Amino acid sequence: CGIFAYLNYNVNRERRYILQVLFNGLRRLEYRGYDSAGISIDDSMSLSSDPNTPQPSSSASVSVPLVFRQEGNIESLVKSVYQEVAEKEINLEESFWIHAGIAHTRWATHGEPAPRNSHPQTSGSGNEFLVVHNGVITNYEVLKETLVRHGFTFESETDTEIIPKLAKYVFDKSNEEAEQTVTFSQVVLEVMRHLEGAYALIFKSRHYPNELIACKRGSPLLLGVKELTEDVKSGSAFHDDNFLSKNGHPKELFLSSDANAVVEHTKKVLVIEDGEVVHLKDGAVSILKFDKDKGKHGGGLSRVASVQ
Ligand code: GLU
Repeated sequence: CGIFAYLNYNVNRERRYILQVLFNGLRRLEYRGYDSAGISIDDSMSLSSDPNTPQPSSSASVSVPLVFRQEGNIESLVKSVYQEVAEKEINLEESFWIHAGIAHTRWATHGEPAPRNSHPQTSGSGNEFLVVHNGVITNYEVLKETLVRHGFTFESETDTEIIPKLAKYVFDKSNEEAEQTVTFSQVVLEVMRHLEGAYALIFKSRHYPNELIACKRGSPLLLGVKELTEDVKSGSAFHDDNFLSKNGHPKELFLSSDANAVVEHTKKVLVIEDGEVVHLKDGAVSILKFDKDKGKHGGGLSRVASVQ
């Protein structure tokens, strides 16, 4: 019933801090009602935490996103995350110059409250595509049948699960056919083309580390941008010419169902309109407009704004 994402760019954040921002975001969305919750953050392989050996985001593709899902309230999710973190010896002090985390509170419409039905829903083992969803996909049954015919197996009873699986299908198929690798926004555009119903979605992918895509139709979605140029002490930002493009100013980006969860971080909030696709990549924000009637493979997207 609520979605939230936090992306830190060119500012060093510990995993512990990233988790806290995600949990606090969820706590702010609590009033909307929920029966389960979940998050995804990156594993320790995604980026070097040593500023002396910087790596551009594109070489960080070894990362496999971690997924945590729990039935019940936010505090039971928090507890189970810290338990699992301890069991798997995941380092809370490890820090990331760039990292994209997503979070969800669920109000079940399809499938009982249970960890398997909680979000993020995934494309399957390996977490190639992850989706948090607020809303209802009305044509999920027919999409599910098609995906099952293409060999996908489903683990949940949600309407949402078809979305990450459709993303994987589109990704695999496009890469087979196309000369060059398909972009994250092209994948999401193709997915949106098939969806009916109401949704606000955030996509995270192992194939596009440190990027996020959000889109909406009918359900609310906001973007928050916090410039950190003033806040970050000189020397603490990531100074590497390859990495630091013209968009390299340290910043934090937020996506949320509700301004509630964003205004404690920044007053720079943008309301996303129906049919818009928000792409967060390399510290830049592109807002694209989805046009269902236009051509395939990016032809249906036009840029309406960019925030840097
Ligand atoms: N329809 C989705 C589900 O039941 C999302 C519900 C929500 O908005 O929380 O899993």
